[in-house]
Amino acid sequence: MRPEIELLVGYLAKTGQKVTRQRLLVAERFLAAEGHLSAEELYHVMLDEGTKVGLATVYRSLKTLVAAGLAQERRFPDGAARYEAVFGEPLHDHLVCTECGAIMEMPNPCVDRLYQMAQAEHGFVATSHRLVITGRCAACSQR
Ligand SMILES: [Zn+2]
Ligand SMILES: [Zn+2]
Repeated sequence: MRPEIELLVGYLAKTGQKVTRQRLLVAERFLAAEGHLSAEELYHVMLDEGTKVGLATVYRSLKTLVAAGLAQERRFPDGAARYEAVFGEPLHDHLVCTECGAIMEMPNPCVDRLYQMAQAEHGFVATSHRLVITGRCAACSQR
């Protein structure tokens, strides 16, 4: 079992929620996927692979993964909520191309520094932040 799945099962038990096969299937497929998926995209990936699952279950399972601290919800300019796995992933921010919609990741040492300052100056343990840089990607800016 992936360590994330163990954490999820632990979280569900702790919060008195049922561990259903469907939920685990969604979690496993999500964790195996790269990048930034919306609920609809994950749903279609699973349907295409022949996994029977409802869109509402995919939505709920993703929300649960967020609540369990295993995923983060991101809002990009296209408006859809997108999810990415965060367990064991380095902090990064996102560059979103407004022409082609490409989403790129960029490590952000300034944010690491801000988290340290929040802790040092306010005793605040930061767990997330919002920053999306929009513009044109290299390919689009050459067109
Ligand atoms: Zn582009
Ligand atoms: Zn990302």
